[in-house]
Amino acid sequence: MSERTEPRPRRGSNGNASGHSANMTHREVRSNLARAAALVLAAAVLVVTPGVSAATTHPRETHDLDEEARATLLRVACNEHTAGKPVAQALVERVGLHTARLTSAPDGAREATPVGLLDAFRGERCPEPQREIDYRADALGDVEGDVTEFRRLVRGALADPRGWSLDGDLAFVSDEDDAQFTVWLASPEEVAAANEVCSPDYSCRVGDDIYINDVRWRDPPDTFAGEELDDYRRYVVNHEVGHWLGHGHFDCAEEGEAAPVMQQQSIDLEGCEANVWPLEWERDPVRDDWLP
Ligand SMILES: [Zn+2]
Repeated sequence: MSERTEPRPRRGSNGNASGHSANMTHREVRSNLARAAALVLAAAVLVVTPGVSAATTHPRETHDLDEEARATLLRVACNEHTAGKPVAQALVERVGLHTARLTSAPDGAREATPVGLLDAFRGERCPEPQREIDYRADALGDVEGDVTEFRRLVRGALADPRGWSLDGDLAFVSDEDDAQFTVWLASPEEVAAANEVCSPDYSCRVGDDIYINDVRWRDPPDTFAGEELDDYRRYVVNHEVGHWLGHGHFDCAEEGEAAPVMQQQSIDLEGCEANVWPLEWERDPVRDDWLP
C-alpha cells in the first residue's frame, strides 16, 4: 500500500453540478414517483392526525427508531440526487414504504410501521453537500473482478456518511468527463507498471490515479480474514482515496481500538481492530482542507 509522498497539488473548487440532463421519460418517471410520494405522505398525515389527541394516543416512543436504524435509513434515502429533500419523501421515492423491502435495515427499522418511519424523520432533510468532487471508476488491464460491482461499491463507500463524505458535506459524483481522480480496478501488472513504488501485491495511489489491485479485491489479505469481503473492499477504497485527499499513513494508536483507515491494515493490524471508516480525527483535517 505504498504511494508517492510528494504533496499533491490542490485542485480548485469545481462546485458546478455535473450537468446530468434528464430526458422526458426520466422526468416522467420522477414526476410519477413524486406524485406517489405526495399521496403516501398525505395518507400518512391523515392517519397520524385524526385529531389533536393523536399525539397522546400514539406515544412518540413507538415511532422512535434507534440510532442504528436511523443511520441505515438515512443512507438508503439520501444520496446526491436527494440532497435537500425531506428524508421521508426521499425514502418513499427510493424504496417505497414497504418496510420488508428494506432488507439491509436493522430490526428497529423493519419493525417500524410506515407511518412510524415517516414520523421518525419528520422535519428532517437530506444533507446538502457543501462541495462536489467528480471521480471516475473503471477497469484497467486484464481484470477478473466485476466492474459494475466495483463501481457500485466505490460509489457506496464514497457516499457513505461515515466516510470521506463527512456526513454528506462532501459529495463524490461519478463523472467520467470531469473526473478529478480515477479509481481503477487494476490488474497486478498495471499496478506495478504505474510507478516504481507500487507493488503487484497491493493497491497504490499515484497522483490522481488510484489502483485497486484486482487480486486483493477478490482475495483479501489475512488481516481481514474474519471480515465481510465488502468491508475489506470499502476499507481499501477509503484508504487510497484518503491518500488522494492528502493523508499519509497512521499507526495503531492503542491495542484493541479501531484501526485508523490510514493505517496499512492490509499488512499489519498492530493489535488494532480492522476498521473500514475513517476515524473522526482522520476526517477533521479533510473537513478543514476541503470544505468551504
Ligand atoms: Zn497507503
